[in-house]
Amino acid sequence: MTTILEGRTLANKIKEPLKQRAYEIYKKIGRRASLIGFGWKGDAAGFYYLNKEVEAARKTGIDADIVLLEESTQPKQLFTLLDAVFSKNTIDAILIAKPLPPQLNGLDIAANINPAQDIDGAGLISMGRLFMCKTWAEIENLKTFIPCCPKAVIRLLEFHKINLEGTKVAVIGRSNTVGSPLAKMLTAKNATVTLCHSKTKNLKEITLNNDIVISAVGKINLIKKDFVKKGTILIDVATVVNEEGKCVGDMDFENLKDFCPISPVPGGVGPVTLACLLENIIISAERKIK
Ligand code: NAP
Repeated sequence: MTTILEGRTLANKIKEPLKQRAYEIYKKIGRRASLIGFGWKGDAAGFYYLNKEVEAARKTGIDADIVLLEESTQPKQLFTLLDAVFSKNTIDAILIAKPLPPQLNGLDIAANINPAQDIDGAGLISMGRLFMCKTWAEIENLKTFIPCCPKAVIRLLEFHKINLEGTKVAVIGRSNTVGSPLAKMLTAKNATVTLCHSKTKNLKEITLNNDIVISAVGKINLIKKDFVKKGTILIDVATVVNEEGKCVGDMDFENLKDFCPISPVPGGVGPVTLACLLENIIISAERKIK
């Protein structure tokens, strides 16, 4: 039996009302909802996805542009750019493509992101608020945004009617973008989470002992058939370009797909993440109107 936990249907469902909502915003305030993305060409994958996000935003009826950072851009210069965007009442949303050049990855940058525009929940205030929540209801009531990729994982699991309460979940990868906030969200959903990383010993022992395995690393074939029990629910967050130029994830999809329910790459978490980002831009603009 093959169960593919695909994400395109859910993504389309999330995106479906957004064009109309974008049009309503335009009618009310006489300008489109707007997004500024910050990125640099040094990280080809991050820059590619930022361009895709900007393109998708434009197709939704959102004004979207990219501020190009250089490898030499200094924190002070980025603060000035962020301040300029913050002070413009006409910018509803910002998105910072990760990773930035090393000198721009510190806490100070996260501290300078205005929470009202922080549609990917990457700033200190948004992230801090998420981590202060114990329950999912508290998370849902936040006035700040939560990171889109982990939120997309939760939505994808729920869309496929996978109940998280009481399950054991292994999350592989502990970044601030995916793994750590995802572990927080799953815990709020009453799952019991083991958060794994590059220094985790006996990863296989952990994955064999969990009901759900979610991988966000970026290493092709990290999770093979002998790493999981039959029927373990597998969510592959990673996006890596293989030697043939194809986009793949961390999991050995071909050998796992008849053994476990599994999300594909592409077509799994990715489209849902993008849909959540677009939805948040619209929500941010609508909040301004209110
Ligand atoms: P990241 O910041 O590089 O984090 C990677 C994580 O993997 C780190 O925590 C690292 O551990 C861990 N790791 C590395 N090697 C490992 C190993 N052998 N075993 C176990 N853990 C290991 O990357 P990220 O930003 O979280 O992104 C992860 C992947 O998800 C990438 O492929 C990215 O393209 C993809 N992604 C997809 C979406 C989407 O919407 N589908 C969104 C965002 C990211 P340490 O902390 O110890 O270094």
